[in-house]
Amino acid sequence: MSAAYHDLLDATIQHLEGLKSRGVRHVAVAPETLRALAQPAKLPIANFPSPIAKVAAPPAIKTEPAISMPPKKTIVPAPKPRTPDAKPQPPITSSSAEKAAAFTALRERALACVKCPHLAASRTTVVFGVGNIDAQLMFVGEAPGADEDEQGEPFVGRAGQLLTKIIQATGLERKDVYIANILKCRPDTPGQSAGNRPPTPEERATCIPYLQEQIDLIKPRAIVALGATAVDGLLGKTLGITKLRGNWQTYRGIPLMPTYHPAYLLRNQAMSEKRKVWEDILQVMEKLEMPISEKQRNFFLKA
Ligand code: URA
Repeated sequence: MSAAYHDLLDATIQHLEGLKSRGVRHVAVAPETLRALAQPAKLPIANFPSPIAKVAAPPAIKTEPAISMPPKKTIVPAPKPRTPDAKPQPPITSSSAEKAAAFTALRERALACVKCPHLAASRTTVVFGVGNIDAQLMFVGEAPGADEDEQGEPFVGRAGQLLTKIIQATGLERKDVYIANILKCRPDTPGQSAGNRPPTPEERATCIPYLQEQIDLIKPRAIVALGATAVDGLLGKTLGITKLRGNWQTYRGIPLMPTYHPAYLLRNQAMSEKRKVWEDILQVMEKLEMPISEKQRNFFLKA
């Protein structure tokens, strides 16, 4: 492990000991944080993999959908005392601890939300969001479908698996970005055993403050809005996704790239449509100063 990792570990222990000395015996840890802790070697590094760390695979080739279990709140015990010879501490991270705590509190509020009684009655889970709360890049979709409702995680169904491939094509993984929806509950379809519907304007207006708070806490450097509902929901515009896609917009000061929803690409498999989405993603990679290989630049271009 690197020195930076040990510094961060020491600083975290120091912070937890401070809490312990003030009588705190347990701390709530958000699933995002637990996932990040499971990858200790990558923790101290900025959100994106190093430019030479990875060569991205084309989206058409590999499919390993990252499907995880519903989020569970986990309690971890307070740490053991530090050894006396531990190194001096870097100035930490009370702000990152505060951010994680604010995110956990927001998640708890959203999970208990009953502002749309019809959705609270029909949902299996509130699909809050998933990923890195320090992500530079955030994806926003429409609303959970049946798979997401069941698993408690956005974009885990067929469209989600395609989104995962798009993310991987940039050289990132799902855990490097943050993924959320305009609506956190699956839109109900009374009298139907299957199928989806877009959120109503009332449902959108009720739910969007949660997403706004997520964005305000994460402060991504770029947002990708997937499909018309996400674009309209965030920008309040109804110019049409076909006109808007590929053109930078701004949401609360953050560059926002509208692009097609992956479900559209599942319906329309034309190479030209995939290329359009990929060109939008290339713009995002450029904005974030991510490394882009020649191979990546040429994805979905005919030979
Ligand atoms: N479509 C969305 O917009 N969001 C999901 O989470 C899944 C499918």
